[in-house]
Order: sequence, then structure tokens, then C-alpha cells
Amino acid sequence: MRLIEALTAVLLLVAIDSSAAAQEVGVYRVPREARQLLSEMKVTIRHGNLGEAYTAELTDEQADQLRQSGVLTVELYASLAAENLALGLSNEAPTGFTSYADMRADFYAYAAAYPNIAALEVLGNSVNGREIFALRISGNVLVEEDEPEIAFWGAIHGNEYASGEMPFRYAKNLCDNYGVDPNVTAFVDNNEIWCVPLLNPDGYEANTRANANGIDLNRDYGFQWNGFGGSPAENSQVETRAIFKFLQESNITLSSTFHCSGDVLFYPWGFSANTTSDDALIQAIGQTYSSAANYALVNSWSDYETHGELVDTAYGAFGALCYTTEISNVVGDLDFTYSRNKDGMDVFCGSTYQGLHGLVTDADTGLPLRAAIFVSGSEVASYSDADVGDVHRIVQPGTYSVTVWANGYVPQTVTGIVVTESTRGEFAVALSRGSNEHGFAITAIQQADPGNSYSNLSQPAWALGPPDGKACSLGRNGFIVLDLGEGNAITDGPDVDFTVTEALVPGDLMTERYRVYGGTAFAQNTLIGAGKGTWSFDIGAVGLNSVRYIRIEDNSGASPGDPLGGVELDSITVLSGTAGPTLTADVAQVSLAGGGLQTFSLVGPTPGALYYMLTTETGSTPGTIFPTSLLSMPLNSGALFDFTANGPNRILKKGLGFLNASGLKSVKLTVPPGQDPTLNGVVLHHAYMLLDLVTLEPTFVSNPMTTTLVP
Ligand SMILES: [Zn+2]
Repeated sequence: MRLIEALTAVLLLVAIDSSAAAQEVGVYRVPREARQLLSEMKVTIRHGNLGEAYTAELTDEQADQLRQSGVLTVELYASLAAENLALGLSNEAPTGFTSYADMRADFYAYAAAYPNIAALEVLGNSVNGREIFALRISGNVLVEEDEPEIAFWGAIHGNEYASGEMPFRYAKNLCDNYGVDPNVTAFVDNNEIWCVPLLNPDGYEANTRANANGIDLNRDYGFQWNGFGGSPAENSQVETRAIFKFLQESNITLSSTFHCSGDVLFYPWGFSANTTSDDALIQAIGQTYSSAANYALVNSWSDYETHGELVDTAYGAFGALCYTTEISNVVGDLDFTYSRNKDGMDVFCGSTYQGLHGLVTDADTGLPLRAAIFVSGSEVASYSDADVGDVHRIVQPGTYSVTVWANGYVPQTVTGIVVTESTRGEFAVALSRGSNEHGFAITAIQQADPGNSYSNLSQPAWALGPPDGKACSLGRNGFIVLDLGEGNAITDGPDVDFTVTEALVPGDLMTERYRVYGGTAFAQNTLIGAGKGTWSFDIGAVGLNSVRYIRIEDNSGASPGDPLGGVELDSITVLSGTAGPTLTADVAQVSLAGGGLQTFSLVGPTPGALYYMLTTETGSTPGTIFPTSLLSMPLNSGALFDFTANGPNRILKKGLGFLNASGLKSVKLTVPPGQDPTLNGVVLHHAYMLLDLVTLEPTFVSNPMTTTLVP
């Protein structure tokens, strides 16, 4: 095994072919016994046919594959167009529903008519350039206020027309009845309500479930993405990216995404049979809606396995309670469907009072901060709003502690926050600058779990923040994309820039291999390097100046069935720009003249508890000093660190030891006879870390320095 991996700049261009035409699919009835097979095929299953056979969208090839596996697969329609024809729908928006143009015109008109409570926002554009428009409704709408945000999303599946009508009609209802109906007035005054009727405007116009690229947008989101519904990569579509960016910039507390298959309210997870850590709360809040609207409340997974859904991403990556609301798509039912869902939306707008309400500021400047908030008992992070610093999290009555952390700031925990049905759990935190920077938010993750054992119980959020021994297990070939947050990109420093810390956890004490990539939010294309265990990386070595998003891909070759197989990602720690003590050698070059035994000293600033480590490599390869495999390294407590050339032009060794009371460590290099001529130019690499002596977690890693061997 090489101790130092040479860093090679390799550009991997993720293939996102936005022009790929969708392969023609038909509509099939497939018995539920084929669930496992269908999820392995990652085809589009229409959600919501509770207890009945699945309605699947399959290519001829996929239908044949199922039949060959003995699954009774019945073709209902040869194509989606044939289905529309048979149902009496044109291949354009059917009559009885509001067209894209009319919805858009109405929202612009409402924003103009109600300037104090309604603002028109365009969150992005579709593949064909249509606007993803939203009406943001709040008292004093032009001023960003300290209040919970609620989002109602429609028509992510373009041909589920009624799903667009719900946010559309509700927005108009709020505007028309503000100041008239005291309930509406309170909802609008106490919240910031986002009504986004058409998440897939091209599909809405073309009467297709997918977007104009033939991608199912509700399988394209990054949280536990797995290539379902034709999604070629997480966050691959412009419509997905628009909503993801919206989530990154807001602090949504509660949300619902409307669909049209059955009368059901689904709650997370869709990707796993495991319950969320907020399960009791999620069911309780969901029950208020499902009771008001008279829908069944059902766990999403129990209907069908899905990956890359908005509902899992909004909750899993941003802490927003989120539900998938399945409603009737029948034109004749529209008024009734709206009235029952209006009751549900009303209940949601009234439910943001009970919970934790925090304000986060910078202790020095008093300015608001976007911070991550971890609530006791929950394993997903929420985020405060950058403009105001406010964060709102619905919780059940109880006593809570809240840990608040922003990148580059020292975390703070507030304990004993009491929440009752009539008492808001308020807290205010002023964070002080000081700590290193770490992973701040999750852009995408796939905790690979082959065989669907769903026994990977480690939480994605455990990869956020400083090293704490709690790790997110990626599983064999899984990946995660971590966001350092706005304004916290790594800038290239003289040597290594960040460390990936792998935790050794009960059940897996092995260090594992992985690859690290960097880049923008939606394309982490540049390979920064390969690591094993805890390892440090230099972004400048591969030509990068700045990196905000880091992608870590498991490369462990772990056993597929092992729930803790794959790298256990504890943390990433940004090193560059960190001011700290440095290590020097008392000579920059060690003369090999005469061969035999040479000694020199490494000089550090702190005696005693300061550990250091050395690695060496052949030739002039710069390599990386990495604090890897800490616990498996021999501890050198003697006065001398011994190195012996173990081959021509080759010195491979690493070690861990103390600097002595004078802050010195002597290094002895032994060159066996006959090898000295070839060692000319060999570079010894040195680095050290300050370690927490209890947890052995590094708190500071020096910039590495080198000693060159010369004849
Ligand atoms: Zn749908």
C-alpha cells in the first residue's frame, strides 16, 4: 500500500444529457408482489394505489423483463399519449383546469393588487424557459420578518392538474380574504406562505408527468437519490435546481407537495422502511391535515419505495416537515377537492405556533446568521434564515435542548426550552467566531444499502459539523455531497486544505477507502484525491482555487450486505487559512554524504502533549501528509524516530509520537550500504496534529513541510 497517494487531476464529467429524448413508455398494471423487482428496475410507479396493483410506466423491454421473471404484467395503454386519448384528455392541458398562462397572469395580477401581502417570485425557469412562479404571502410582505415559512407545491408531475390548482386557489383565497376572515388574517400575519403551483410547467403544458427532458422531477432530488424515474444524476434538472436553491435560501418549517393518485397523505420516508426520528411529530401534524381533509395518513415507504423525492429532501436535508398530498385529478371533483384541501392547508397554517422559535446572530456584529439547528431527539438539521436569523421548528410539547452552529463559529447549546400548546419555545443565540469550518448542509446523499436490508441506521446529519465520533455510513459505493455554506468555500492554501475524518465505530473499526471531488452545487466534477480513513487533501494540487461543495464517494469494496460497510464519514474540517503553530526541521536538507546514519530534529512549538507524525515518499512526489489510521499507527515514545531506507530510492514509514519537553523530536535515517546514491532527492514529509488526548480527534493539523535528502 502506498502511504502517500499521488494526486492526479482527473476531470470526470458527469454525464447529464439534457437533450436525451425520453424512451417511449406504456402504462402497465403490475401486481404488488413485484415490488422488489420494480424498485430494482427504478421505473416510475404512480404512487397512491393503496393495496391495489401498481400502475407502472414501462418500456417494452422492461415489460418483457417482468414477464420473463414470471410477473403478470398487463399493458393498459401502449403509450402515455394513448392513455390521454382514452381518458378523453388531449395532449395539452385539459379544459376545466387553469392553464399555465392564466395562472401566471393571475399571480402577477394578485401581486399587483395586494402589494402589502403578496409578492410575485420567480424561482427559476423550466427546460423550455417557462417561469416557476410563486406567490409569497405574508403581512408586510416586502419586509423579511421573524416568522415561520410554509410552502405549498403543485404539479411536480405535469399531468396531475388538480395538484397545481390547490396552491393556486389557496394563494388567491389568502389574498382575497386577508382583513376579512380573521383566520386568514392570522395565517398571513403569522407566517410567510409560499404558493408554488407549477413545479413542472413544461409537463403541465404538454400533459406529461415528466419534464421536457423526460425526467420524473420527483425522483431527481438529492436526498437518498438512486436513479429512479430516469433521473441521470441527483439535481440533474433545472426545475429541481430551482426548488433546491429555494430551499437553501429559505427556512421552510412546514410544506406539502400535491399529487394526483388517490386520496392519501404520505409522510417520510419514501426511500426507507426506517422511521424518521421525528416520527411521532410527523404523524401528529399529518393527522391534523388528514383529518381535516378526510384522507388516509400513510407512510410513503409502505406504499412504494421511492428515491429522490421532494418530500424526503425537504425534510431530510432542510428539516422542513413535508407531506405528499395525493388528491383526485377529476375535473368534476375539483371544487370539492379544493375545499377539503383548503381545510387541510388552513390547519397547517395554524400549526406553526407550537414549537421552537429561535434567533441566531453573530456575537460581535449582532448581524443575523444562517445557522444549523439541531434539536434534541431529532436527527435532521433545520436552518435559520440568513436575512433575519430566525428559525422555527414545530415540536410536540416537552422540554428541549437546541444546539446551534454556523460555519466558523463555536457551537452553542441551549437547554431547558419548554414548549406547550400555548407556550412558544423561544431562544436567542449569539455565536462567537472561532471554530474550524465543516460540512454545513447536505446537497445530496445516497447511503447505498444493497439488498434493501435498510439496516443502515446511521444518519446523514452525523456528517455535519465538527468531528464528534458520530458518523454517517455511506455503504458500499454510496456518496454524500456536503455544502460548506454561502461564503465559506475553501480557498487554496499553501499545502493541504481540508481533512476528511472517518470515525471508527463499534461494528466497523476498519478504515475505508473513498474518493473526494469538489466543485459547484450541482457538479462536483473534479477529483481532488483518494483517501483512506482520516485523510487530508490539497485542492490546489488539482488546480482548484475554491471549493464550496465536496463530494465523497465510498470506494471501500465493502461487503454489500454489511450495514456499516463503506466509509463512516464523521466530518470534514477545513484547514486552509487556519492560523496555527508550524513545525520546522532544524535543517532543510539532510546530507547523505558518507551514507550510514543521519540525524536531525523536528521542532514544534508545543512540548509534551503534541503529537507529530511523519510520512515519506520516494522521488520528488509532493504527496499529502495525512493523519490516517491514527489508532493503528505505532506510537513512538522514544527519543528517536527511526527511518530505514527499505529499498532503492524508497523510504516508506509513518509514525506517531510526542515532541519532547523542548518541543523537539529527533529523526534518525539509516541508509544501508549501496542505497545511498539512489536516495538523492528523496523528500521526507512531516506534519503534526494537536490531538484531543481523550478522543484522539485532531483539533489542528499543521501545514506539512519537507526535508530533502541530498548527497
Ligand atoms: Zn405525482
